[in-house]
Amino acid sequence: MFSRISTHKSTESCSEKIERLRMALADVDAVVIGARAGLSASAGLTYSGERFQSNFGDFIDKYGIQDMYSGGFYPFQTPEEHWAWWSRHIMLNRYERAPRPVYDKLLKLINGREYFVITTNVDHQFQLAGFDKKRLFYTQGDYGLWQCGEPCHFDTYDNEGTVRRMAEEQRNMRVSTELIPRCPKCGRPMIMNLRSDDTFVQDKGWYEAAERYKEFLWRYARGNVLYLELGVGGNTPSIIKYPFWKYTHENPDSVYACINLEKAAACREIAERSICVNADIGGVIARLLGEG
Ligand SMILES: [Zn+2]
Repeated sequence: MFSRISTHKSTESCSEKIERLRMALADVDAVVIGARAGLSASAGLTYSGERFQSNFGDFIDKYGIQDMYSGGFYPFQTPEEHWAWWSRHIMLNRYERAPRPVYDKLLKLINGREYFVITTNVDHQFQLAGFDKKRLFYTQGDYGLWQCGEPCHFDTYDNEGTVRRMAEEQRNMRVSTELIPRCPKCGRPMIMNLRSDDTFVQDKGWYEAAERYKEFLWRYARGNVLYLELGVGGNTPSIIKYPFWKYTHENPDSVYACINLEKAAACREIAERSICVNADIGGVIARLLGEG
């Protein structure tokens, strides 16, 4: 396995790296995209600052919540308040398009090429931007799905209709009691289908997506493949970063590219076939499209 401390840092300029990435893209048989929070942040889905304050001012005043992420864990006293918070959060980060068209531009960039996306993002912005849902693997869940809180069974439930009503009809930070979701099989409260502990439900769709991803990797284990890592920080590198390093190492014709605001790096073993760009993802994609 790779040594975490032997990551390679090049002295190439940002423009030179982007040019190399442009050439790599022109020549690929397939692109495997691995995306984490940094991509959505570049698209404007920020969880603090003005976007948070303007949408959650009442919750900030009443509970002193610091940002959207921590608010998801706040121990509200009633389910009516819990779902008032969450429905607003889900509308803003799952059913509405991201403020900046970074996902749209990414699709434009890889248009016409074979691609597959693995992501830990739960906001579904890939699908909203028009990526083929058969080419997406959301490993950590989806803000748009609910599951039984126990769970007593392994199905998930689309929440759009109820969430829209909750967000529109809520008053004084409370939804009406009739809208609170309960498991259709056991009657227990439903929870978000997000991987936070071992109650996370991997439904049939999850397993099918995992299988399609595995097949894609197998089909393109050889040839000119670009492993394009976007917005993956230093946390939990075992889902995207380390596997991408491994696949690149195993296929001598492949290229690994990593774009992140900071800590873009590759291990020494694949350094010559790596392009690590410390910059805003949206800005790099715009330059690759000739817009920047
Ligand atoms: Zn149940």
